[in-house]
Amino acid sequence: MTLKLYNSLIGKKESFKPKSENEVKIYGCGPTVYDVPHIGNFRTFTFYDLINRVLKMNGFSTTTAVNITDIDDKIINRIIEEKSSLKEITSRYEKSFHEISRTLNIFPNDYNPKATDFVEKMIEFIQRLINEGFAYESNNSVYFIVEKDLNYERFVDLKFEDSDYLKINKNQDKRFVGDFALWKSWSKNDGDIFWDSPWGKGRPAWHTECAVMIEDLFDGEIDIHCGGIDLKFPHHENECAQIESLSGKKIANYWLHAEHLNIDDEKMSKSSGNFVSVNTMIKENGPSAVRLFLLSAHYRTKVSFNLKKLDESKKMIEKITRFSNNFDLLTIDNVEMKFSAEHLAFINALNDDLNTAEALGIFFSFIAKMNKKITSSSLNESEKEKSLIFLKLFNSIFDVIDFDRSKKQKPPKNVQDLLFSRQEARNNKDWKKSDILRDKLKSMGWYVEDTATGQKLLEKK
Ligand SMILES: [Zn+2]
Repeated sequence: MTLKLYNSLIGKKESFKPKSENEVKIYGCGPTVYDVPHIGNFRTFTFYDLINRVLKMNGFSTTTAVNITDIDDKIINRIIEEKSSLKEITSRYEKSFHEISRTLNIFPNDYNPKATDFVEKMIEFIQRLINEGFAYESNNSVYFIVEKDLNYERFVDLKFEDSDYLKINKNQDKRFVGDFALWKSWSKNDGDIFWDSPWGKGRPAWHTECAVMIEDLFDGEIDIHCGGIDLKFPHHENECAQIESLSGKKIANYWLHAEHLNIDDEKMSKSSGNFVSVNTMIKENGPSAVRLFLLSAHYRTKVSFNLKKLDESKKMIEKITRFSNNFDLLTIDNVEMKFSAEHLAFINALNDDLNTAEALGIFFSFIAKMNKKITSSSLNESEKEKSLIFLKLFNSIFDVIDFDRSKKQKPPKNVQDLLFSRQEARNNKDWKKSDILRDKLKSMGWYVEDTATGQKLLEKK
């Protein structure tokens, strides 16, 4: 089955075909680095990682970019609050974005462009928009004229007479309420944060940031543009308006948007104060459980966060770990490629608009089936190979099993001694002692599993 993706631009699933044969270019809107990220932010970034991995599974090579917004109103407010500097605030949270991404096994991006490195290019770009008649200067700010973009309202049917929209966007400098800022003039609040421009001192606006980066890194044309659902309008609409007005070409053929992670049925956001720090969740539950939780629902379904769901993910990790302990994962590259029916169904589920929920279900029903055979000692060689191959495929997407663990495992001496005593107890059929020693090891942070080839030790993550 070929890869199908739900394209927000047309509101339905369609087969994926990149512009060039094998190379897929992907751009995702990245974090604004002004505060600790919440778990909802990382639902989006894990979703970007999922797209990348599913494309690789299908044999495509990818080039990915996720920008870092390091100039924004929220950052300026934070600088004032903390009496700090732009560099200090943004480098702190940029670092934490990268650290968490690594901890959650998110593949590094080819590019992580920063807004402050692109200011000169943004000024040139805005000047071009003015020269071509798509933008105007007003009171030291610059605005885009939306009525000049004949395709405006790609993503939504916007009612400009909508009173909420009018309220939010009221601004005397604009000719029309729908026009959006490309350059914001300096105000007292901005302090020493400004750049000189042909329109006086000020700073670039967010919508221009992504447009210029896509133009600069990818010549204005990518295959897939992704983001959180709230970016569809106005952010993505406005990105399109700028680039497509100048070039006459579509930025991207596929637009993918991930739903929110809610908390108590409300969108998780820092401004409303209802958010859960992703770092805290990783510390309390381990990175694998958090990653699995973030991937366990289909990206287009709203998920309500609660600790019970994280507990379920922890239990799933234990199940996967117990199952994978039955096999020598280091032999995986020497195993003959044999595919179970579930293996192929798993691929089909992911190729059906990245349906991780269904793929996980298929994987767990495979585990249940194989576990029965393991318990009754009837797992044959071919099933062993299929299990290993499926585990490898599963991990190429979900990435929650450490395949190199047996290389890394060097249990301390007291743990090795306990393991040895337990083996002796088992040899003497002293099951009671064996169980006591297993519990003792567990309390010290080590799982021990009895497999067909003997005891296997695994450090709790
Ligand atoms: Zn963007």
